Amino acid sequence: MEQKLDLQKYKKLLLNERDRIELEHRVLSASAAEEGYELADYDNHPADAASDTYERTKDLAIDENYREILDRISDALKKIDNESYGQCDRCGKAIHPNRLRAIPYATLCIECQETLERR
Ligand SMILES: [Zn+2]
Repeated sequence: MEQKLDLQKYKKLLLNERDRIELEHRVLSASAAEEGYELADYDNHPADAASDTYERTKDLAIDENYREILDRISDALKKIDNESYGQCDRCGKAIHPNRLRAIPYATLCIECQETLERR
């Protein structure tokens, strides 16, 4: 018999994860902004200007990473609402509850994830 997932529990996990990530992102952005002010003092120095660009590129990558996770969380929340949560996007099988507890926004079962990573 197939066991039904306790969707409300996963919804709570997802909301907690979203709060945690948003907080973490805010803290990171704030410290990145501080670093930006320090670098601005050396604006006329070519080497520092280069590392400034590097830092900005790094910040953008972090932003993108967070946006992607937040997107996945909101997708997962939508899936909870239409009761398709916990199914693998690739093979349609149920994702193992242990995996969902660790990564509540996982969209692939462990087998598919490993197949994709091997490629
Ligand atoms: Zn799968």
